[in-house]
Order: sequence, then structure tokens, then C-alpha cells
Amino acid sequence: MKATIDHIGIAVADLGDALAFYRDALGLEVEAPEEVASQRVRAHFLRAGDSAIELLEATAEDSPIAKFMAKRGAGMHHVALRVADIVAALAELKTRGVRLIDGTPRPGAHGSLVAFVHPSSAHGVLIELVERREK
Ligand code: ZN
Repeated sequence: MKATIDHIGIAVADLGDALAFYRDALGLEVEAPEEVASQRVRAHFLRAGDSAIELLEATAEDSPIAKFMAKRGAGMHHVALRVADIVAALAELKTRGVRLIDGTPRPGAHGSLVAFVHPSSAHGVLIELVERREK
């Protein structure tokens, strides 16, 4: 499977505080925030060349980001790999016995399709697969 790093997801307690570092101190270019209702998160993407940093703030206590923060605190949450065909990628991983969180893709930010691979199959890292539908 051919993949490039689409973005790195970082869990933060407060988007405003996080932007003070990532946008203001580092000087990364920020995109409009987006609520991903299905995940109960507010996301902010900051461009870094062909990749991006995704800042994730929970919008509800039962959000996966809130649970992650409660257990591990703020920090790196996932690595997202961009693939051309997410359905084909998931099928390929299934045949290789990889443990998936999402057997079928679901809607992600910016009209993309996403699916997560379980960290137990990825040596402790939550991997997100992304298929971009635009650009
Ligand atoms: Zn992501």
C-alpha cells in the first residue's frame, strides 16, 4: 500500500492555548476549525508542507479525546496516513490479520473518509487512514 503522512493528531486541553504555541510561536499557517460531530471533537489543522498538524479538543466528556486526555494527558494522539483508496486499504489490512477499529470508513474532517487501525497492531500508535475526497 502506498501512503504518505497526511497529518499528526495532537490532543490538547484548550485549542486557544495550543494555537498560542503552534500558530503564534511556531508560525504555522492555520486553517478554519472544524467540528467532527461523530467524534465529539473540535479540530484545527495547521499546514506543515504537504502534511499537517491536527489539534484536537474534546467537545464532550464521552469524546474519545476526553478519554485519552484523562488517561494520558495532552500529547500525540495519532498518525494519519493518506491512501488513494481507503476501502481497498482496509481490505488489504484485514487479509493480513491487522486489528481494525473501523472495518468500514466513516466521515472525517474536510469531507474526507477515515478509518482507525488499533494501536495493538501498530506497536502502540493509533493509526488513522485518510482518503481525501477534494483537491
Ligand atoms: Zn486525524
